[in-house]
Amino acid sequence: MRIANLSGRLVLITEEGTAVDVENASGAVFSADPQAVYARWAEFRAWAADADLPPGTTFDATDLGSPAPAPRQVLAIGLNYRDHASESGFTAPEGLPPVFTKFATSITGPVTDVVLPTGGHTDWEIELVAVIGAHAHHVDQADAWSHVAGLAVGQDLSERIVQLAGPAPQFSLGKSFPGFAPIGPWLVTPDGFEDPDDLELRTTINGEEVQKGRTRDLIFSVPALIAGLSAVLPLLPGDVIFTGTPAGVGLGRTPQRWLTTGDVLVSTIEGIGEIRQRFWSAQLSAE
Ligand code: ZN
Repeated sequence: MRIANLSGRLVLITEEGTAVDVENASGAVFSADPQAVYARWAEFRAWAADADLPPGTTFDATDLGSPAPAPRQVLAIGLNYRDHASESGFTAPEGLPPVFTKFATSITGPVTDVVLPTGGHTDWEIELVAVIGAHAHHVDQADAWSHVAGLAVGQDLSERIVQLAGPAPQFSLGKSFPGFAPIGPWLVTPDGFEDPDDLELRTTINGEEVQKGRTRDLIFSVPALIAGLSAVLPLLPGDVIFTGTPAGVGLGRTPQRWLTTGDVLVSTIEGIGEIRQRFWSAQLSAE
């Protein structure tokens, strides 16, 4: 099953790729608010499995918002692929990898224009995003997938100068400029994949491939992250987890490379779809 946020309203995406408005189709049993559905996720799944849906309507991807637009917590994971830890100059973590947040104001839908922070070094990081569907506290790995509502494509856009400024790194600030957390194009439930633990991720800039990896190479898989994070704090319905990026970011290149005005970044995950960002300098976007 796929759900999406179409112009701020919760929709089901049909097999044909059209949208069915959930509030209308359910006779207002479920609200139009995309974030509200996660609090009643099991009930919603049961309804959607049997619902007699009206025909869907076509839509434009530019009208999609994040399938989880206002999570109470956003947890983001660093150095969770060996090849990316190595290109970043770190050894792979043994305990839980570094955890930071992307502040919720940075969340957007899947097709956006992003203003590059002036004087910054803005980098790309494709990431599998998991959205929590059931309160998770002290959850075992074996039981973790049942706490996930679904998966989406995310970009952990990162301004490296702010992120790496001393004396201690500022991961959360450097990764939270407006538009730095696009998520979408929709949420796919875990049963929608042959193997939700092995999905190909791919990033291109202006058509040139810059990142290609598989989620089976995550050091901490989605279930391992949920077990490790929920051992410390409760994960709440609708919370968002950015799970880390594979190699190929601009920081790890020789010479280093940063996003520049006019660049088009396309991030694709197998079985989900793609998100697309176009970048502008502050001066150009003001004209
Ligand atoms: Zn990241």
